[in-house]
Amino acid sequence: MTSPAAADRDIAITFLGTSGYHPTERSQTLGVLLPDLGLAFDAGTGTQRLTRLCRGDELTVLLSHAHLDHIIGLTFLVVPVLKGLLRRVRVVGLPEHLAAVREHLFAPALFPVAPPFEFEELPERLALPDGGVVRHVRTPHPGGSVGYRIDWADRSLAYITDTTARPGAAYESLVEGVDLLLHECNFGDRQAEWAEPTGHSHLTPVLEVARRCRVGRLCLMHFDPSLPGPDPVGLAAAREIFPATELMHDLQTVWLARGQRPSGKLA
Ligand SMILES: [Zn+2]
Ligand SMILES: [Zn+2]
Repeated sequence: MTSPAAADRDIAITFLGTSGYHPTERSQTLGVLLPDLGLAFDAGTGTQRLTRLCRGDELTVLLSHAHLDHIIGLTFLVVPVLKGLLRRVRVVGLPEHLAAVREHLFAPALFPVAPPFEFEELPERLALPDGGVVRHVRTPHPGGSVGYRIDWADRSLAYITDTTARPGAAYESLVEGVDLLLHECNFGDRQAEWAEPTGHSHLTPVLEVARRCRVGRLCLMHFDPSLPGPDPVGLAAAREIFPATELMHDLQTVWLARGQRPSGKLA
């Protein structure tokens, strides 16, 4: 990785895909890329867009879990590595999720090329070359999921997907005071009864997490593909509860500006 220290500039965060479950005409399944850092959260079908957007030739993928909508794009990275477009791909996650990827997604009967990746078990703290520190917490979801937080000296970001937002959720302490929270919102409030049984979230509890944890901004993602239109969960109503809410769409980039917090307060 050749990118300069993140402290020197704003950090771009590009949504490669914003759908859950399956892609639609409008959106690919979930993946979020920090192109200057060579860092991605998850690898859904939107990973087809990664190689042309990633600045360097090294990539670290932080997996939340191993459901297909979050990992199938790993197979799209094989040819870029073989062509030399990506020199190194490191896939980081829980041991059980990495095992599922290696044994099932890359079973020869499903995909005939052994992945030219490095698989690394998620450490308690992962230091990034630009100075960021990644921490995580396990979150409830069928098969288990992982929520992430990255702290730099003067700003912070959290990525929470495939879990149910509720008061007292274990990940609330992880996201407390974060500058930018990327959170799944698979369902609108009209589909609230589906959230708990599927291990997903619906709108109002997500907004309440953001408010309770005093996050700076909230970006919603991972929408149920059956929800119609560019405003699947109701942005206007959301902003009545948490004004600094945005709905993400594919290829949208948001910026994490420097100096969001006083420097030196690394959580
Ligand atoms: Zn998902
Ligand atoms: Zn899932």
